[in-house]
Amino acid sequence: MGETVIPLADLRYAAPVPAIPRQAIPATGLLSDGLGRPLRDLRISVTDRCNFRCSYCMPKEIFDRDYLFLPQTSLLSFEEIARLARMFVAHGVQKIRLTGGEPLLRKGLEALIAMLAELRTPEGAPLDITLTTNGSVLARKAAALQRAGLQRVTVSLDGLDDAVFRRMNDVDFPVADVLAGIAAAAAAGLGPIKINMVVKRGTNEQEILPMARHFRELNRQHPGSQIVLRFIEYMDVGASNGWRMDEVLPSAEVLRMLQAEWPLLPLQASVAGETAERWRYADGAGEVGLISSVTQAFCQDCNRARLSTEGKLFLCLFATQGHDLRTLLRNGTPDADISSALGAVWARRDDRYSELRAAQPTDAAGGGRRVEMHYIGG
Ligand code: SAM
Ligand code: SF4
Ligand code: SF4
Repeated sequence: MGETVIPLADLRYAAPVPAIPRQAIPATGLLSDGLGRPLRDLRISVTDRCNFRCSYCMPKEIFDRDYLFLPQTSLLSFEEIARLARMFVAHGVQKIRLTGGEPLLRKGLEALIAMLAELRTPEGAPLDITLTTNGSVLARKAAALQRAGLQRVTVSLDGLDDAVFRRMNDVDFPVADVLAGIAAAAAAGLGPIKINMVVKRGTNEQEILPMARHFRELNRQHPGSQIVLRFIEYMDVGASNGWRMDEVLPSAEVLRMLQAEWPLLPLQASVAGETAERWRYADGAGEVGLISSVTQAFCQDCNRARLSTEGKLFLCLFATQGHDLRTLLRNGTPDADISSALGAVWARRDDRYSELRAAQPTDAAGGGRRVEMHYIGG
C-alpha cells in the first residue's frame, strides 16, 4: 500500500473533521448558534488564486511565484459544493455569495451557479445568489453569469484614478476595464450592483469623493439600475498584509466627507445581519453604505458561514481554525450525518472577534495563525 501524500498547502490551517453527533440534528431551517444567531448567509470561495495583488489582501512579496496555492485535487468539485450547499440551505441559509480569490478565474463557474440556482429554502423560495469579483473579466462574462442564474454582483474598486488603481491592484491593471465590467453587469441585469471600496488612509482616501460623484452620476443617468457604493474599513484580516490601525480611515470620517458635499439621510437595514450602514442621498441620486468592521463591530447579528476552496467551514472571518467537511464528503459519510455534524458545529459557535478586538485592541483573537482573506473569501 502506498502512503497517502497530503499536499503541504492542505495543512496550512488546522481543521479537525467534525464529529457526527450521536443524536441527529434535524435540518429545520431554524438552526441557531451559541449566541442565538441563525445561519443565513454562506460565502463560498471557489478558488484561492487571483490575478490581482491588492496589498491589503495578497501582497506581492508573499504571494509570489513560489507561493504554494492549493493543488487542483484539493478543491471541492462543483458537485461537492452543491451537495454541501443543499445541506446549508436546509439549515437556514438563504443567500449564497461566491468569492475567492477571484471567483471568475474558476473555469466553468456558470455550471456551479446553475446548480445553486436550483436549490430551494425549506419554505420553497429560491436563493439569493451573488458573487464578489475584482471585475477584471466581468465584461466578458456578465451575460453568461446572468443566464446561468446569478442575480447580482459586487465589484471591488478602490479608486477611479488610473494610477492609484494600478498601484492598489499591484499588477498594473487599468481601471477602464473594471468600469467596462460594471457597465456590462448593469446591462445584463445583474443589479442592484454593489461596489466595494476598501479605504486605506494614506493610499486612496482622495478617491472617496470622486468615486461617490461618479456613481451618483451613473445613478442619475440610469435611475433603473441603481449602483450602491460601499466604503469598507481596512481590516486586520489574515497575517500577511502588515495591517496597522493608523492606516484605517474610520467610516465616521468617510461619512463626514460625504456629508460635507451632499446631504445624506439614514436608511434602515434591509435584512437582519446586514454588514453595511446604509444612507441615501437626499437629492435622490441613490445610496451609499459604510462597512465599519474595525470601528463598529457587528458580530451580534453575524449570520455568515464561510466555506473555503477545499471544503473547510470557517465560522468567522478571523478564525484560526476551520472544520474539515471535505473529508466527510469523500469518505462515504451519508448526507444526513454530514448535515448533523455541521448543525452541531454551528450550534456551538460563539465567535465574535470584532467585538473582542474593540474591547481589547491588541490581539483579541489570541494566538494561532489567522486565515487569509483570499482563501476563505470576503
Ligand atoms: N477577488 C474578489 C474581489 O476582490 O472582489 C473577491 C474576493 S476579495 C477577498 C473580497 C472582498 O474582500 C473585496 O471586496 C476586497 O476588497 C475585500 N478585502 C480584502 N482584504 C481586505 C482587507 N484587509 N480589509 C477590508 N476588505 C478587504
Ligand atoms: Fe484578489 Fe480580491 Fe484579494 Fe484583491 S481583494 S487580491 S482582487 S482576492
Ligand atoms: Fe462575524 Fe467574525 Fe466578523 Fe464578528 S468578526 S462579524 S463573528 S465574521
